[in-house]
Amino acid sequence: MPPPDAGARRAVPPVICYPAATLPQPDLPLYRYARERASLVQTVTVPPRDAAAIKVPCGHFLRIISIEGPQVGDLNLFNANDLTERFYSGKTRALQGTHVTTGDRLWSTFPNLRPMATISHDSLGWYGIDSFGASVHDVIGTRCDPYTARLLSGNDYHQCCHSNLIRALAAASGLSMIEAEAHVHDVLNVFMCTGFTRDTGQYFMKASPVRPGDYLELFAEIDLLAVQSACPGGDCSTEHSSDTAACFPLQMEVWRPAAGTLEGWQPPSVNGYDRSHGLSITARGR
Ligand SMILES: [Zn+2]
Repeated sequence: MPPPDAGARRAVPPVICYPAATLPQPDLPLYRYARERASLVQTVTVPPRDAAAIKVPCGHFLRIISIEGPQVGDLNLFNANDLTERFYSGKTRALQGTHVTTGDRLWSTFPNLRPMATISHDSLGWYGIDSFGASVHDVIGTRCDPYTARLLSGNDYHQCCHSNLIRALAAASGLSMIEAEAHVHDVLNVFMCTGFTRDTGQYFMKASPVRPGDYLELFAEIDLLAVQSACPGGDCSTEHSSDTAACFPLQMEVWRPAAGTLEGWQPPSVNGYDRSHGLSITARGR
């Protein structure tokens, strides 16, 4: 039985955990100036139901482009010089919200906790939040994986994004598959349209609004190794972790700004928290 004051307790208004005003903000006009004066330096195609890796030097742009047909991508980001610094989906969700778009930043793991990348362009930025509560480019899903597929269907499927990311990371880094698996992490679901049902709070997906020519562009704040899977779910309108859905390739492009167009920009330093002091304290009050 709910308590007599249940209505009053539920009526307490929410408070934003991390107000945007307290976050260091990116200089978007500067990024816009630089991206309009950038040139294409590298292209990699991600085959359907497979993954590929690309290095993005800091101060360059990475475009993830829909080609041929609607397709969702699962993105892992690493510090190219230190794989232990990687994209932190959960903290990005807490800081930026469930879905990201232009101006949002992709944050890295502790103890660094700095923006690895800033979204500098999103051709699906018009989508907003639809009547189902869904939006595009989520940081609420994890990635399709063979363990959950096994759990739910009893079948083994080997082209899940998790497995594709392992294979591409191993090839790019020289790590074994087992070693690489430990580095694969919760993704940015590029182009995926998702939300939580209002009545049961369940994670849902729906056909992505992405069309060929759409792209998401990230500005690399540090040297990045980007690993991208073209999800076996295709546009994620029906199912994933199978060969059922129509799948298409994705394209990754690295764009280099012209000299002098990023005047005043500096790579973000690692988080300033004094970890050595903090971790030397064994218990409060002793
Ligand atoms: Zn997937």
